[in-house]
Amino acid sequence: MSTPSGLPLRCWAEIDLAALERNLRLIRAALPAHMRYVAVVKADAYGHGLPQVAARLMHAGADLFAVANLAEAAALREITPDWPILLLGPLLPDEMRFAPDYDVAVTVSSAEEVERLDRAAAAARRHLDVHLKIDTGMGRAGVWHEEAGPVFEAVRCAAYLRLAGVFTHFSSPDEDPAFTAEQRRRFLAALDAHHPAAGREALFIHADNSAGLETIERAGPFNAVRVGLLQFGVVPKPGALLAEVPAEPVFSFRTRVGLVKALPAGTRISYGGTHTLARPSRVAVLTAGYGDGIPRAASNRGLVLVRGRHCPILGRVTMDQTIVDVTDLPDVRAGDEAVLVGRQLGAEIPLTEFSRHADTIPWETLCSVTKRVPRLYRTPLGA
Ligand SMILES: *Cc1c(COP(=O)(O)O)cnc(C)c1O
Repeated sequence: MSTPSGLPLRCWAEIDLAALERNLRLIRAALPAHMRYVAVVKADAYGHGLPQVAARLMHAGADLFAVANLAEAAALREITPDWPILLLGPLLPDEMRFAPDYDVAVTVSSAEEVERLDRAAAAARRHLDVHLKIDTGMGRAGVWHEEAGPVFEAVRCAAYLRLAGVFTHFSSPDEDPAFTAEQRRRFLAALDAHHPAAGREALFIHADNSAGLETIERAGPFNAVRVGLLQFGVVPKPGALLAEVPAEPVFSFRTRVGLVKALPAGTRISYGGTHTLARPSRVAVLTAGYGDGIPRAASNRGLVLVRGRHCPILGRVTMDQTIVDVTDLPDVRAGDEAVLVGRQLGAEIPLTEFSRHADTIPWETLCSVTKRVPRLYRTPLGA
């Protein structure tokens, strides 16, 4: 395999678009039939590459895309002039006049935002959809659930805005089912107080992200889910429902052995000499480091697959190189592939495990793979 310039690869990510498409279909099949699928593709589709991922998700039938900001919406509009897009983050006051250009649905959390956005839409003579966000206990975007009335009222009064959705976000669906249930209760109370039951089917009413699916409410007004991580085949915390969805990993992260050498016992390894060899060893120097997205926190802790075996990282991860112990693998040669995340010869390092060894979470790992790393796409047959 090589880069577009024909040079061999030193560190790359492989993105399995066929698995992505299968994952969306599996998740849909596990959900009640009326649930619409909001595909969350913020942060360059979780580092997988927005254009390629969005094209596949449209093919697989995502109902709505969700992104974090207008620049991401603009990038999506390059691919699709009319697929519906929801902006999850609040718009800055000086961004509002651009919203009509990209025909995005905007998340609103205050009457002030609603009035300002209505003026921007009026000036552009374009109608805009809004999703009203209710804060049920995350303390981030959204109007506090007990104070939602004036925001619903402001949307009703806005001549150029149309209420297209109402939603909330759970703070700890994977860790605190009791608090998640309380958040659902708060959301439904606010909805009942401020929006008549009639006409709700026309709205997107959504709360669940990947981890929320575990406790999803099949009855009730919820009719959409917002799926990010799970569609990429990473299960935040396996439980009953998620165990039913055999989602496959879409992302793998690979590098190569640049050099193999023998070192005497007592050698101190890498910057700072934080690892001392206890025995005469053979080490492999990998051609990737934190400049590619191997977190420095994986120093002296992480594992890498070489020839299908788990090899410990020795010493500190450096910008361009990482050292692993291959003493027990006499056949390792310069040029061999090394796997940071993914499968090799029947062995596997899942993204969750790599992230744990780096003291982080899979979401952050995916966002940390740098621009230096080419993404190679495996496309479904016939695509
Ligand atoms: C990122 C995000 C999601 C997706 O979360 P996952 O845990 O990746 O499924 C859903 N909703 C909102 C508001 C988000 O910001």
